[in-house]
Amino acid sequence: MSADVETSLRGPKAYELARKAIQAMEAHQVWPTALNFELWVHYVAAKGSALAAEIDTIIESGEPFTDEVGEHLAAQFLPKAKLNGEILEAGQTLSKELDSVSRAIESARETSEAYGQQLASASESLDGDDAAAIKTMVETLTVATRKVREENHALETQLHDTTAELGRLREHLEQVRRDAMTDALSGLANRKAFDEALERASAQAEQAGETVTLAVIDIDHFKSFNDTWGHQTGDQVIRYVASVIGRASGNPRFSARYGGEEFAIIFPGESARSALAVLEAVREEVSSRILKRRSTNEDLGAITISAGIAERKPGEAPASLIERADSALYASKRGGRNRTSCADPIAAAA
Ligand code: GH3
Ligand code: MG
Ligand code: MG
Repeated sequence: MSADVETSLRGPKAYELARKAIQAMEAHQVWPTALNFELWVHYVAAKGSALAAEIDTIIESGEPFTDEVGEHLAAQFLPKAKLNGEILEAGQTLSKELDSVSRAIESARETSEAYGQQLASASESLDGDDAAAIKTMVETLTVATRKVREENHALETQLHDTTAELGRLREHLEQVRRDAMTDALSGLANRKAFDEALERASAQAEQAGETVTLAVIDIDHFKSFNDTWGHQTGDQVIRYVASVIGRASGNPRFSARYGGEEFAIIFPGESARSALAVLEAVREEVSSRILKRRSTNEDLGAITISAGIAERKPGEAPASLIERADSALYASKRGGRNRTSCADPIAAAA
């Protein structure tokens, strides 16, 4: 979809699209910042997209289109567009580099072919024993040899530069790949990275005949927290909860920001019992801290989280595991929040 939007922006409808985006922004009182413009161009250009659906939801909810909302949308929906652009650019740089290397190789080949011909004609003229002819021949060969040596040197430099450039490109692509897998707000893995990690962990558990446990976590009454203290302070809380979760889930555990105020932890090789102990520690740490607003030092009180845990059953698909962990989370919400529930009863300790 993003590539289509890119194409549209260089097509015959480009100005019409840009105008429509600005009109829509004005109608919904959205500041015409570069980021907002990008979002709204996508909105008018790709009506059926997930981003457009999300913007429609925000419009319907009457929620103001603040910078935070824009940044949140961009983090969720635009990295792909950025990624496509970066990969395209890297590809172009790479093909330019390869072009100039192949030109250099071609030129070195021509030079050495000419050198070969000069050697051949020199060996023919060796048949005579004229001293002047030999002198001319030696001079010709000296010049030709120097030329070949210079060409080789230039080729070496070129190859060296290209290797360095390829190294830089590889690093850059690695960074782009990391960015595309990271949630910008919390620094945890994003939904896409989570989906891949769960897929991998499930396949590995299946293959090794081991277990893997999934926990999903949701901040309690977060809407009213946002309504009381503002979205920006809400973002700080998301970062705080993410940091507690991140600390509790070092390698090989895997934590992610799964959605707005929802998180997930994958526990490879660990049972629901073991995950429960971790989640209870996280829950207690979060609820025991009195939060302060950074800018004013104002007391925000404590927040709580609810969690749901499911241990994978042999043969179970990731989607089903997520569904069972989600149901356990809802059981925690229904049960009064600030608690952790398991999808299955945990066997009594041996
Ligand atoms: P519950 O205890 O049932 O989970 O109640 P809740 O209010 O947390 O649940 P609900 O899903 O109704 O609301 C989630 C709220 O989270 C809605 C939205 O305002 C807020 N939210 C989602 N993403 C973000 C974000 O990136 N930043 C901030 N500040 N708030 C967010
Ligand atoms: Mg929620
Ligand atoms: Mg919530």
